Amino acid sequence: MTAAIANNKTFHERSSCPACKCNDSITIYGPPSTDQILRYFYNFYSHQGTFDESIMHSYAYILLECINCKLIYQKFAPSYDLLSQIYDVWINPNIALERHLALPEDFWLNQVHDVAMLKNIITRQGNKDKQKWLDFGAGWGSWALAAEAINVKCFCTELSKYRARYITTRGLSILEESRIPNSNLDLINTNAVFEHLTNPLETLYLLHKGLKTGGILKINVPYRPNYRKAAQNLDLSNVSAANFVAPLEHLNYFPRKTLISMAKLVGFEEITSGFRSRTTLVNMSGQNLITKTKKASLPFRYSFSKVLRGNYVLLKKC
Ligand SMILES: [Zn+2]
Repeated sequence: MTAAIANNKTFHERSSCPACKCNDSITIYGPPSTDQILRYFYNFYSHQGTFDESIMHSYAYILLECINCKLIYQKFAPSYDLLSQIYDVWINPNIALERHLALPEDFWLNQVHDVAMLKNIITRQGNKDKQKWLDFGAGWGSWALAAEAINVKCFCTELSKYRARYITTRGLSILEESRIPNSNLDLINTNAVFEHLTNPLETLYLLHKGLKTGGILKINVPYRPNYRKAAQNLDLSNVSAANFVAPLEHLNYFPRKTLISMAKLVGFEEITSGFRSRTTLVNMSGQNLITKTKKASLPFRYSFSKVLRGNYVLLKKC
């Protein structure tokens, strides 16, 4: 079965770790039965669109753990064409937009807090010019709009054609990945992006190249307590519990140390925000937002006010 899948164009086998290129891994989950995975697809996609059962002929959901960096990754990654299908057809764009716009107030407030904090960090480095940012994988463009509202020029990349079109109707500028300029950007945001990437290490090099020296990369990826045990005992009938390694979509699960070691390989160093915590920011009123810069602390596993939970990492280009 493995050889057949490896030769199939719908999926390709990831024969080395996508974060460190190590060739040694162990299987920690899978494959589940066809029935289990079909039921998962039905539960996950039917209320937000549809799914194409025919992929099951060439699909095996298997989770590997890298011996070296401990990344947990899906052995088979969808092709670019299948990914486009998933994000623009299976997930009905109209339903997705409706759900996005109906997110609770906390979500929107957090976008504003996040961009304000990040702008403050770069301003503190002595940058007085208008800052140039990139929201890599910008989704519906809400974060980028928040950035533009505080006088930052924020470009966007977006894989989904439908979302990219929507972004432009909101007055934002789309930038093709291949046209990210060298050493030009003050900051790059990646929110809920790296877990989706087929080749995260290559993408990290690309983003590193786009930043000025001293520029900041923000990575926010899913966080799951006791992730290893959860992966080994994965219950696909519970869609939300399986979300940190969602079949076809969350191709990588990054333990925090893995994320940092991958970033070091590329030429980043981790920094702290200088803010006491994300929670402090969330609880502050708007006018006090960026004035309370107290002792440095780790802004890592924060609770995004019940809206998002993530491994939140800030990296500086050395
Ligand atoms: Zn690895």
